[in-house]
Amino acid sequence: MDRIYLSPPHLGRHELNYLHKAVEDNWIAPAGPNITGFEAELCTATGAGHAVALVSGTAAIHLGLLLLGVGVGDEVLCPSFTFVATANPILYCGATPIFVDSEADTWNMCPERLREAIEDRLRLGKKPKALLLVHLYGMPAKLDELLALAEHYDLPVLEDAAEALGARYRGQPLGTFGGVGVFSFNGNKILTTSGGGALVTNNAALAERARFLATQAKDPAPYYQHSQVGYNYRLSNLLAGIGRGQLELLGDRVKRRREIFGWYQEHLASLPSLVVAPAAEPTGSYSNRWLTTVLLATGPTPSVTPETLRQHLETRNIESRPLWKPLHLQPLFATAPMYGGAVCEDLFARGLCLPSGTAMTEEDLLRIARALREAL
Ligand SMILES: *Cc1c(COP(=O)(O)O)cnc(C)c1O
Repeated sequence: MDRIYLSPPHLGRHELNYLHKAVEDNWIAPAGPNITGFEAELCTATGAGHAVALVSGTAAIHLGLLLLGVGVGDEVLCPSFTFVATANPILYCGATPIFVDSEADTWNMCPERLREAIEDRLRLGKKPKALLLVHLYGMPAKLDELLALAEHYDLPVLEDAAEALGARYRGQPLGTFGGVGVFSFNGNKILTTSGGGALVTNNAALAERARFLATQAKDPAPYYQHSQVGYNYRLSNLLAGIGRGQLELLGDRVKRRREIFGWYQEHLASLPSLVVAPAAEPTGSYSNRWLTTVLLATGPTPSVTPETLRQHLETRNIESRPLWKPLHLQPLFATAPMYGGAVCEDLFARGLCLPSGTAMTEEDLLRIARALREAL
């Protein structure tokens, strides 16, 4: 039986045309019409004022932190329950992540724990430099509450929307709420350029500075002069071409991811020990349902754990993955402060990501549901 992957790339019919044109016109460089086109189309798709195409979402987060002024010795508030790529760039800046627990509705940063964290850091005499928000698995964080706190405490916001392209909060696309927003076009994301990312902002000066830093920070001189550290973070014109083809499909892809989530909800409803979650979108939230995730019921001695379930699916040649292991439990961040922790630790202990690729057929889904039923 063919392998069913977790979230493989799903190409349309136009990516190759953009690639073909780039090769014909000799635009094989980290500059060219596909990059400017991709950036303009990303602005149209998200409503952002400016977009800067970059080599990865991680690079975009790194530049985003620099744009918000994060430097050596600073502290950055960050959810613990996320992929390591959210927090690694905090370390690149020589700063320290201050981890905050999730809330149970959306699995994203808990506003109550965030308030505690901010007040405690202030009490310790150190004001956090920025707030890094994540919309996990495409589900909007509780932005009303979180942004109110950011405003009250005057904290600039960086929005890691790497998993949330096409999702909305009160009708507004995610990625456009913070001073800077970030998307990823890695191979497993809802749209892909194989590898790539973008930074979006409504501030023209910040966008200009992002481009400057992403291209080795060249001073305006007729020769090579540099007075600041720069990076080589610009996306290739070839990959931006793939991105243009992919972006045409965003609406379809979000629709299909949401259908897949609904399919699992319906067809797994009879399994008492497993629930598709987070089930409900809070009022005003529209998730892209990038990955469908499930939680196993708790019990004193569960016979089925996420790992045994994953191993059983593997025997049927079906890929599944654990939820992100909280960052405060990672050896890398052993000394970073953490506020709360019980919520995301419980989610990690009970959760699993199911195949969610938009090219899956009904037979694929039935095969997955059958394998889950066998295991449970
Ligand atoms: C994928 C991802 C990133 C990193 O994006 P890359 O393009 O792979 O560097 C950052 N944050 C989250 C939450 C992600 O899922």
